Amino acid sequence: MSLEAFRKETRSWLEANCPASLREGPTGVPAGGRNATFSNPDSKVWLDRCAERGFTAPTWPKEYGGAELDTAEQRVLREEMMDLAIPSPLMGMGLTMIGPALLEFGNDEQKAEHLPKIARGDIRWCQGYSEPGSGSDLASLQTRAVVDGDDYIINGQKIWTSGADEADWIFCLVRTDPDAPKHNGITFLLFDMATPGVSVKPIRLISGASPFCETFFEDVRAPRKNVVGKVNEGWTVAKRLLQYERTMITNIGARGPRAKSLPEIAVEAVGLTGGKLADRPLRDSLALQSMNDRALSLTVRRNTEESKSTKAPSFVSSMFKYYGTEQNKARNELQLRLRGTQSFGWEGDGFNREELALTRAWLRSKANSIEGGTSEIQLNIIAKRVLGLPD
Ligand SMILES: Cc1cc2nc3c(=O)[nH]c(=O)nc-3n(C[C@H](O)[C@H](O)[C@H](O)COP(=O)(O)OP(=O)(O)OC[C@H]3O[C@@H](n4cnc5c(N)ncnc54)[C@H](O)[C@@H]3O)c2cc1C
Repeated sequence: MSLEAFRKETRSWLEANCPASLREGPTGVPAGGRNATFSNPDSKVWLDRCAERGFTAPTWPKEYGGAELDTAEQRVLREEMMDLAIPSPLMGMGLTMIGPALLEFGNDEQKAEHLPKIARGDIRWCQGYSEPGSGSDLASLQTRAVVDGDDYIINGQKIWTSGADEADWIFCLVRTDPDAPKHNGITFLLFDMATPGVSVKPIRLISGASPFCETFFEDVRAPRKNVVGKVNEGWTVAKRLLQYERTMITNIGARGPRAKSLPEIAVEAVGLTGGKLADRPLRDSLALQSMNDRALSLTVRRNTEESKSTKAPSFVSSMFKYYGTEQNKARNELQLRLRGTQSFGWEGDGFNREELALTRAWLRSKANSIEGGTSEIQLNIIAKRVLGLPD
């Protein structure tokens, strides 16, 4: 089918199948899972219809719940959803992180077990990488896994585990050979968060929200067949998964359906004088931000198209993560400049919903250059792996 025919067919499917209420006002994108919640019941209808069509994981093979779209078709799908103000049906680490890693490193049994559940939104995942003493120096992690018959017994602690209190399964880095050099004794293991011995303690932030947790493992049993890749070679899987994660984080600030563009916000907040913004430095900042946003999106697209044969991301994802998160922070700062003191609302009638959301989005954007590896670590990777500079 030609790309134009695909566009036409996809657009009419989207128009016919996306419930009208989702196109009218802001709706949260569901994260799925055994205890999934839907702020709007139509979100569940939309999720099920997309899962049936393979549109929750559009590029995955059909046998695992995808639609086998190529990169160009996936872009068309996104463009049409954006144009019709249609939200994503599902989000989460299943789709963006562990799913792609399993497609690359999982065995047939693991793929058949986990991928269809991810694509349907049946299981929600969390990431057990960071530990109290191991963040940037992730390979120093200490959580131990010791063989016992057909199982591993796991003891240790993770931290900053996003969504651990709501997740059903975890992809976890564990040390299986404490005597090997630190990168060589790590194994990538999957297990159910309902396994006895797993406990989570939400970390409460100043905002009152708790997006992440401390996660404890006390004699937790996980089947040895849940190792992804080879025992003691989990670092290879871990690094690739980080590249998928960084690609996802790069796009966090991308404008979603119904979100206003910066020029639209400027017109609304400041107004025009003689057809343009009177404040020249502000105008220049807006133009620069918009051009850089566009340049990043086109460069990411070019890179995806050029790496079509390999499909997987590479160390270049560090460049995009670094630049994309800086852009996102700058975009939020610029919105603050446009809206002035109205962007510092925390609660109360003095602020509308959009202004309250902006305050939180601005604060949240600060974490983008920490999660998935800090900006300093991305610069180290770019220096070593992309530019080939000496240590
Ligand atoms: C919102 C959010 C969500 C997260 N979710 C998860 C999750 O779900 N699962 C998970 O496992 N982790 C998660 N993390 C943890 C995240 O991966 C770590 O915070 C991150 O890797 C940094 O580690 P750290 O916090 O221990 O900082 P540290 O490693 O202690 O770093 C402190 C500072 O030192 C700098 N630094 C350290 N080493 C170097 C170096 N070699 N060169 C230059 N500068 C250096 C860092 O850049 C940083 O500024 C999350 C973090 C955030 C903010």
